[in-house]
Amino acid sequence: MYLKRELSPSLTRYKGLHFASRYRQKSAHRYKTIVGVGGNVGDVKRRFEHLFHCLKKDKRVELIETSNILKNPPFGYVDQGDFLNCVIVLRVSMQPMVFLDYLMRLEKKFARKRSFANAPRTLDLDIIFFENRVIRTPRLFLPHPHWFERESVVIPLSEVSV
Ligand code: ADP
Ligand code: MG
Repeated sequence: MYLKRELSPSLTRYKGLHFASRYRQKSAHRYKTIVGVGGNVGDVKRRFEHLFHCLKKDKRVELIETSNILKNPPFGYVDQGDFLNCVIVLRVSMQPMVFLDYLMRLEKKFARKRSFANAPRTLDLDIIFFENRVIRTPRLFLPHPHWFERESVVIPLSEVSV
């Protein structure tokens, strides 16, 4: 069950039991990171719920907070369904590269197949921030290079206490 609110003709916000919620402030894990979650293929809300449960029971990460889910139009390649996006605040003890591998494995688990840039996807997991680390390599760019120009990140980000 979700509480639905239309923010504009193209943007809809969904509030659910697990989105938007605060979990813990304290954690044994060392680093705070914000993950952007997106998808536009199949039952995306159900997949987000599944992801939520995977993260909740995984000792390698500690769930701190989730934003609402935002439905928003695709960009880049526009001939595809609307996206659902949210951000999840986590604490981890992994270093950023290791955390990226961890997220890529989760994407795989949710059957993501890479085809072309901005293509439809089951689950996209991006690291938006990792503490205040600045990394500029092709494999990992931090903070995420486009976070400030995407409604899909900026709006959910405005809902969590970062
Ligand atoms: P996008 O998220 O840009 O739509 P992909 O999810 O296919 O595209 O990611 C392409 C590559 O971007 C990944 O293989 C990853 O190595 C790289 N990448 C660079 N910076 C980041 C980041 N901050 N978070 C996630 N992936 C990143
Ligand atoms: Mg990505």
